[in-house]
Amino acid sequence: MNRAQSILQSTFGYDAFREPQGEIIHELEQGRDAFVLMPTGGGKSLCYQIPALLRDGTAIIVSPLIALMQDQVDALNQLGIKAAYLNSTLDVAEAREVEAQLLNGALDLLYVAPERLLNPIMLSLLERCHIALFAIDEAHCVSQWGHDFRPEYQKLRVLHERFPQVPRIALTATADQRTRDEIIAQLQLEGARVFINSFDRPNIHYAISEGNNPKLRLWRFIQENHAQDAGIVYCLSRKKVEATAEWLTEQGRIALPYHAGLSQELRQKNQQRFLRDEGVIIVATIAFGMGIDKPDVRFVAHLRLPKSIEAYYQETGRAGRDGEPANAWMAYGLQDVLTLRQFMQNSNADEAHKRVEHNKLESMLGLCELIACRRQALLGYFDERLEQPCGACDNCTTPPEKWDGSEAAQKILSSIYRTGQRFGVNYIIDVLMGKADERIRQNQHEQLSTFGIGKEFSTMEWRTIFRQLIALGFINVEAESHGSLTLTEKCRPVLRGEQKLALRKQTKEEKLTTEKKKK
Ligand code: ADP
Ligand code: ZN
Repeated sequence: MNRAQSILQSTFGYDAFREPQGEIIHELEQGRDAFVLMPTGGGKSLCYQIPALLRDGTAIIVSPLIALMQDQVDALNQLGIKAAYLNSTLDVAEAREVEAQLLNGALDLLYVAPERLLNPIMLSLLERCHIALFAIDEAHCVSQWGHDFRPEYQKLRVLHERFPQVPRIALTATADQRTRDEIIAQLQLEGARVFINSFDRPNIHYAISEGNNPKLRLWRFIQENHAQDAGIVYCLSRKKVEATAEWLTEQGRIALPYHAGLSQELRQKNQQRFLRDEGVIIVATIAFGMGIDKPDVRFVAHLRLPKSIEAYYQETGRAGRDGEPANAWMAYGLQDVLTLRQFMQNSNADEAHKRVEHNKLESMLGLCELIACRRQALLGYFDERLEQPCGACDNCTTPPEKWDGSEAAQKILSSIYRTGQRFGVNYIIDVLMGKADERIRQNQHEQLSTFGIGKEFSTMEWRTIFRQLIALGFINVEAESHGSLTLTEKCRPVLRGEQKLALRKQTKEEKLTTEKKKK
């Protein structure tokens, strides 16, 4: 048995490493950098905690999750590991004490908030210590395009510049190819070995539905599947959080609200109850959940649409961390889509950001409207292939009603092709519907054979079809070039008429909502 394994067993009390913890630890032990992409609950912490004990000196852990540092440090101290944290919650005397411990070499691990670490005084303090490694947790915060951007994270490259011999490990649970590339570039991790774990969470069953009265459907879902279980319910607004928590309480459940408008004290109290007691439901906005380590959350329910697949994955990932069966359940309405779009329109972000956000939302909608296996699509989004449909999502277990969308798809695909793959959804819909506005005339696209051949559907109906084609991977949305649509290899058989394409039928409920929107 090597040293890492004996620490795993004697200090942490676990039998064996999970893939690829052992290798990552070895990499750091040898003084090399690592970049770790592992889903939430995968076991990222051990990847730096064990090397921290194997190597001389103090490991510095950079984390934006100030609220959780205390818990993490307490847990380590209980295992007999010398750990401490430095952040804005400490007073001057407490911080001095920790700094003194650091200088004396009395710490195995030190958790630091990024803004604290970047403080020049802190950096020069570190130069007088022996540092075992730097761990940069939640590394996706470095990405300008992500949902968690923190400007200080981009400055963390200074660690590499000032401490070139100290090995670094960057960890995240959220990263598409583009975010990955950005993390590596921003943190100068070009030399790091990259570890990518499967994002599949086989014990989670996924279900998504659109339609009326989501609250009642939520209650039915909870009653039928989770009458005694702990779970998280996500809502869009504070008001909805309060109302839903009250309502679930009236139905006889312990349901506690959690959002940024509550006092720190009450939030802490509710979170503690959720972690400690059994069968508590937390009703929350997105303010809840980052880093929460409760293994037996049996369901995560969404009464709102997450704004991206990354967010959906991260939030649903809080279910079933113990590996036992769990449910990710979601009900949304078209109104959510419109509200989210409005949020984005009115945000202060620049145009490029807005476009990225918009495309992320479209991808999320694509996942919602999918008729094929949700897990395949979800993993596909993270550039991971699942060969067979999973058999454990709503679409696999109760396939939705379909219609033959081959002809509609052909119309779309050939319009994209004939207009030179340079335009976005709205433009192509205008072409299909035969709206000869100025831009179309300028491009002489009213002369195309596909001009006006799509009058059988409304704009909203076309949008649904577009989203499905995007979700199914027939069309790419190019974030860099104004959201213009391009065709993928997959299109050929459809365009040649060799492949039938089944699309999801709108339900009656959905149609009604659509009709109302048109007026
Ligand atoms: P992440 O940071 O990737 O979300 P954590 O590091 O918090 O995940 O680990 C998730 C859970 O898995 C924790 O409860 C942790 O103790 C447990 N765990 C991690 N590695 C192992 C292992 N090798 N054997 C057993 N349990 C593990
Ligand atoms: Zn499936």
